[in-house]
Amino acid sequence: MKKLNQSWSESTAPTYKSYTLNNFREIPQIKKLPPRQQFEMEVVGNVLPFKTNNYVIEQLINWKNIPDDPIFRLTFPQKEMLRPHHYKEMESALKQDLGTREIQKVANKIRMQLNPHPAGQMEHNVPHLKDGTKLYGMQHKYKETVLFFPSQGQTCHAYCSFCFRWPQFVGMDEFRFAMKESEYLVQYLREHPEVTDVLFTGGDPMIMNARLFSQYVDSLLDANLPNLNTIRIGSKALSYWPYKFLTDGDSDEMLELFSRVTGRGIHLSFMAHFNHPVELSTEAVKIAIRRIRSTGAQIRTQSPVLRHINDNSDTWAQMWKNQVALGLVPYYMFVVRDTGAQHYFGVPLVEAQEIFRDAYQKVSGLCRTVRGPSMSSTPGKIQILGVTDIGAKKAIVMRFLQGRNPDWVQRPFLAKYDEGAIWIDDLEPFAGKQFFYEGELKEMLQSETEKGGQDVSIAGGGPP
Ligand SMILES: *Cc1c(COP(=O)(O)O)cnc(C)c1O
Ligand code: SF4
Repeated sequence: MKKLNQSWSESTAPTYKSYTLNNFREIPQIKKLPPRQQFEMEVVGNVLPFKTNNYVIEQLINWKNIPDDPIFRLTFPQKEMLRPHHYKEMESALKQDLGTREIQKVANKIRMQLNPHPAGQMEHNVPHLKDGTKLYGMQHKYKETVLFFPSQGQTCHAYCSFCFRWPQFVGMDEFRFAMKESEYLVQYLREHPEVTDVLFTGGDPMIMNARLFSQYVDSLLDANLPNLNTIRIGSKALSYWPYKFLTDGDSDEMLELFSRVTGRGIHLSFMAHFNHPVELSTEAVKIAIRRIRSTGAQIRTQSPVLRHINDNSDTWAQMWKNQVALGLVPYYMFVVRDTGAQHYFGVPLVEAQEIFRDAYQKVSGLCRTVRGPSMSSTPGKIQILGVTDIGAKKAIVMRFLQGRNPDWVQRPFLAKYDEGAIWIDDLEPFAGKQFFYEGELKEMLQSETEKGGQDVSIAGGGPP
């Protein structure tokens, strides 16, 4: 691994400093905001996850453009993220100074109304070993790929206020699930030769230091699993803390670990989460990308389409172009889930597809590796292909990119046109009573439950 140019690291190595509800009023740029706006942040930040850091504040947010700045909206709580009655409820709890425990109670009551575990994620997809051990830190939904949630990777360098993993971050402990022993993972891969990919996810696994993360990865390497083709790392660290790969104490060690993976003939795919072109613009992220790529890892990118952040085709076209220029491979555009501040960030399916289509039309073929917009729903990843006329009626055309049953993939199917629909549950089949997969899906879910309810999990799909 090429060491960083010393002068760069010495002059520009910032120390990570995080800001949360407890200390955000110390941020100089926040001090300048009117007290009313600071209080609004406190109200919302008591319900939704809130964490940011010095890199996001100093290098990504343009403080001359508040509150419209996309990264400000992405990481700082905004009044409109809560519905008015929820806002009032928390506002009045704070104004009455009810005390930490009571405020926590009010917060959890509101959170429970925000659909904290969408798309059946609580009920399905937790795998088990042949001896019956349930693996709560894992999820196996699509044949080839297992998701793995390292227990020490359940946080991030900053939080996206749209994130569907928010119950993990706000201390709703009963939703936290994780698995310490990577031996279980190895054992599972031995029992499942069909699995080719392990996807480390979180939170953000890149919150772990290199030594800890290498325990997981090295046990996979040491196990010499013939079926293991690819290790994926789902991470937003390139956006929120690129110094992880530059100047942090363990950055060289982390990159050496990446090289160790590729050196063993295993593909390392870094699934980077970028929501806006500005996240690709700093010197720090550019050098971090170069360093990761120099290990032989490939960086693929993904993001949901988000109101107020990237809900127009120019932003997406720019983002994909910048990514390809930096050697990244655009991979997924997601539709934001029906949870948390969905009413604030959500973009209807038809509009999301128009944004995708218009952006796709503006870029070269090398950007068109991207697929979307895609919903990570209970039956699978469903892509909206477009709107078409069937006789005198309009229809929405969709297909599965991933299916609980692989046989569903790549078969176009139709729904009645609905401009306002935001999720598959809002759509009706164009003809007949149900979508082609629904009968089979019901049977699959039923038989899973009968097998002993092998499933408690809130994660899966979506970013990062
Ligand atoms: C998206 C996703 C994967 C990975 O799917 P690919 O199409 O291979 O990228 C795996 N598991 C779950 C649950 C997912 O949502
Ligand atoms: S979207 Fe990813 S980076 Fe953002 S808060 Fe959620 S898990 Fe963390």
